[in-house]
Amino acid sequence: MPFSALGLNENICRSIRDQSYIRPTEIQEEVIPLVLKQMDVIAQSQTGSGKSASFILPVLQLWQGMRDSAKKGKIKVIVLSPTRELTLQIASAFNDFGKYLETKPQVIGVVGGQKIGEQLYEIQQGCDVLVATSGRFLDLLSKKQMNLSHLEFFILDEADKMLDLGFEEELEAILEAIPAKRQNLMFSATYPPKMQKIASKITPNAVEVKM
Ligand code: AMP
Repeated sequence: MPFSALGLNENICRSIRDQSYIRPTEIQEEVIPLVLKQMDVIAQSQTGSGKSASFILPVLQLWQGMRDSAKKGKIKVIVLSPTRELTLQIASAFNDFGKYLETKPQVIGVVGGQKIGEQLYEIQQGCDVLVATSGRFLDLLSKKQMNLSHLEFFILDEADKMLDLGFEEELEAILEAIPAKRQNLMFSATYPPKMQKIASKITPNAVEVKM
């Protein structure tokens, strides 16, 4: 099945061709159409399954569709990931797949070890897509200087790994700080009971995808 059969438009498909992806992976085939239908998704997926593109591609397409010049540069997408490496990889993939969009998204990847004041300043200058390690996101949130009122997408990648980083306790603060009406996408290799509790707090009505 070609990527275009999943509902992705030509601007996005062109960027996929640049990556030399021939056809969607299993998870991409399942998840992309659901995201485009604006459904919440909880997916069980392993590293290497192509899970990042399964949310990046449809989110970019929906983001492009909701373009509103007044809201340009306001955080519309938050992606949280457990590690520095994955965070920077996801941010870079958003740029790669967004490069042929009429308006390119401003993508910022934030990880620990950089000056938090500088990161906040950069975000305030304009950020459509914020990709952050969960720990650094909590630090940024505690400064209460980010405008999250335009948020449309809340995405957790490798959520099970985030559990080990105190994420469960901190989740309440995050959910209080973001709009209740949003699309939630959650990816995790395992779903122990603790994980299911988190999932139900984030989204009670998600479609579950198991690979
Ligand atoms: P991920 O599971 O998202 O970390 O992706 C694992 C690797 O697979 C990355 O190097 C991606 O660039 C690559 N990849 C993702 N989707 C595809 C695809 N449809 N065809 C070929 N490679 C892909």
